[in-house]
Amino acid sequence: DFRRAERIATVEISEIVRLSERAADMRVAGRDVIALSTGEPDFPTPAPVVEAAHAAALAGKTRYTATAGTAELRDAVAARPGVTRAEVLISTGAKQVLANAMLATLDPGDEVLVPAPYWSSYTEIVTMAGGRAVVITCPMSADFKLSPEALEAAITPKTRWLMLNSPSNPTGVVYTADELRALADVLARHPNVWIIADEIYEHLNYVPVMSFRDAAPELEQRTLIVNGVSKAWSMTGWRIGWGIGPKALIAAMTAVQGQVTSGACSVSQAAGLAALTGDNEHLKPRCAAFRARRDKLVAGLNAIDGIQCPNPDGAFYVFPSITRLIERGGFASDAAFCTWLLDEVGVAIVPGRAFGLEGHARISFAYADGELDEGLARIADAAGRLG
Ligand code: PLP
Repeated sequence: DFRRAERIATVEISEIVRLSERAADMRVAGRDVIALSTGEPDFPTPAPVVEAAHAAALAGKTRYTATAGTAELRDAVAARPGVTRAEVLISTGAKQVLANAMLATLDPGDEVLVPAPYWSSYTEIVTMAGGRAVVITCPMSADFKLSPEALEAAITPKTRWLMLNSPSNPTGVVYTADELRALADVLARHPNVWIIADEIYEHLNYVPVMSFRDAAPELEQRTLIVNGVSKAWSMTGWRIGWGIGPKALIAAMTAVQGQVTSGACSVSQAAGLAALTGDNEHLKPRCAAFRARRDKLVAGLNAIDGIQCPNPDGAFYVFPSITRLIERGGFASDAAFCTWLLDEVGVAIVPGRAFGLEGHARISFAYADGELDEGLARIADAAGRLG
């Protein structure tokens, strides 16, 4: 009989993927479904990026590249003060950067601090690598933010990493420079703790965003910055992300990657290079479009009796509290509510449970205005049916 490894006994396909697939199945069966469940911009990849990939493929850049990535792309990523090529690793999406880091550093029992709500894959990747995810709950009443006190209290001699994500998926929370500094002051006292700063939503912001490296330069030798082209350049399918960190860590992660994928796709790396070195004129209007959608969605949700929706400062998600709707409908959980919503009015949103915080739901606004309007109207309609 088939038997799973113990290491992945509890690892499942993400709830985000599960819901999106269910919505897709319903569509195939003829249902009119609005899926607001995935974190994928509806805009196309900028044309110059696609052209660069085409040219690279025609020019024969279709072979294995160096394991850590092409020199050109690594240098383009390193083009910020104080970073060298040896401190950069190109991977198959930011997701693989995280997996490489965990596989390269965790021994059984090692702890990784994950503030919740978190992007679902953080805890699963830690588990798969044999570590232990230690979740620190950061409720809406604390603006979904990790406080220095909560961080201090969670650190043990076994703590290897803290996962920070700003702007955040699923809340859109952006840590201010002062807040990052306050966390850095705690971390400075605990040299066993390294920091992953996942900044994949860096360019999708409605307030200024500061990189953790700039906020805490003294921690540079134990900081791994994670970033990529998926979100800001609408390149989710190209699968290009990178890590910036100390040489020894990057070397260990490169060793892992070399045995798993040999490295990122050559043509995609050429596209990533064009993205990073291009004029990026698409970013401003796209951010403006996301901001307008955000404003409409937040206002619309807060007008629904039973929903409380904070205003996100970055990324393209809202993470409202739906506890009153759950109570009113007598649902067993936020997941039961979301399943009901999908069946009842054909709107797919992701339960807070998937992000480690019950009583919420994540709604993505990386969708066209028409879909958002319709989704919002249906959620209001469904809420009304709960009496
Ligand atoms: N980090 C966060 C917080 C994300 O939301 C995502 C994608 O949803 C990723 C990383 C992964 O991005 P990539 O497509 O580069 O693997």
